[in-house]
Amino acid sequence: MKIGCPKEIKPQEFRVGVTPSAAHEAVTHGHAVLVETGAGMGSGFTDADYIAAGATIAGSAADVFAEADMIVKVKEPQATERKMLREGQILFTYLHLAPDPAQTADLLASGATCIAYETVTDANGGLPLLAPMSEVAGKLAPQVGAWTLQKANGGRGVLLGGVPGVGPAQVVVFGGGVVGTNAARVAAGMGADVTVLDRSLPRMRYLDDVFGGQFRTRLASAANTAELVAQADMVIGAVLIPGAAAPKLVSRAQLSTMKPGAAIVDVAIDQGGCFETSKPTTHEDPIYEVDGIMHYCVANMPGAVARTSTIALGNATMPFLLALADKGWRQACEDDPHLLQGLNVHAGKLTSYPVGKALGIDV
Ligand code: NAD
Repeated sequence: MKIGCPKEIKPQEFRVGVTPSAAHEAVTHGHAVLVETGAGMGSGFTDADYIAAGATIAGSAADVFAEADMIVKVKEPQATERKMLREGQILFTYLHLAPDPAQTADLLASGATCIAYETVTDANGGLPLLAPMSEVAGKLAPQVGAWTLQKANGGRGVLLGGVPGVGPAQVVVFGGGVVGTNAARVAAGMGADVTVLDRSLPRMRYLDDVFGGQFRTRLASAANTAELVAQADMVIGAVLIPGAAAPKLVSRAQLSTMKPGAAIVDVAIDQGGCFETSKPTTHEDPIYEVDGIMHYCVANMPGAVARTSTIALGNATMPFLLALADKGWRQACEDDPHLLQGLNVHAGKLTSYPVGKALGIDV
């Protein structure tokens, strides 16, 4: 099969769909890999790296779309890219179709077979192609929160780990899933005093078993939230209710109970955020202040560490990419019900129930 990887064109997207390592693996499996010139640059991969891996460099995205049997990307195809998709072609990337009727209509019209990273499942009920980005965002959260807490950035001027004779910062994490666990581990590793609030007892039992010495867990009740938010130097939002907007856990009125200059890092901002005062920000202008509390609400946090994110995503997508290339999409999806969950569009038909329900289209 010919696998094509165009350069990402969405603003501020520096990741790339195929790493040189994945290209090498695909070539070893007998496939051809065509990469648009410069596609890997944002992640620190040169054309020479791809050539060394056995890939061929294409001069334009148009060449990649025209020649490839399967297009592998990171972000949902933009309007110009959608026009280049054709019947029978496979598209393997993040799609997020539910809130995007325009993209859905274009993909249906293209006749292509579109498999979305975000709906591929695993045997534990997880989302293996979303998890790496949650790991990245979770590990970044205390790092950006520590920076937000610095005086020059409007923060409280508190060092997470403290120093001898000065106690550590109090960090509260809402949600002990993939983002929250990674955030709590890093914050604890930086020396902060960390509490994770979750509403799932089995999840808190797991966290307590595995990380009991490193951070505490508390039930995410209104009373615990009010108590801990008032004591916190940093609050990290990492809750998720699958398929729904993030619940608002902290109201604007509660900000007045917080320490002046405390930092909020709302990782759940891509689902609307879990603080009433959250609004999406960008890497160019990441923080803003409301009632004396600093907010960091970047919706695509993994973009800040594009190289790590690209490699982490590539590690997770590679087995699926190889299965699709080796067997063709139909056999690969027949053999793997988890990959089948990723199938969103095929030959002009919507094939995902949640997306169809969200858009009011019959599946
Ligand atoms: P996850 O499903 O692994 O974890 C979510 C956790 O939230 C679960 O443990 C669940 O029990 C808990 N939870 C749900 N409702 C709660 C409530 N009311 N109070 C307390 N806990 C509650 O999800 P995840 O992968 O950790 O993702 C968390 C959020 O981060 C999602 O919104 C995701 O989209 C977002 N995210 C954002 C970025 C970014 O760049 N901003 C990157 C990756 C993920």
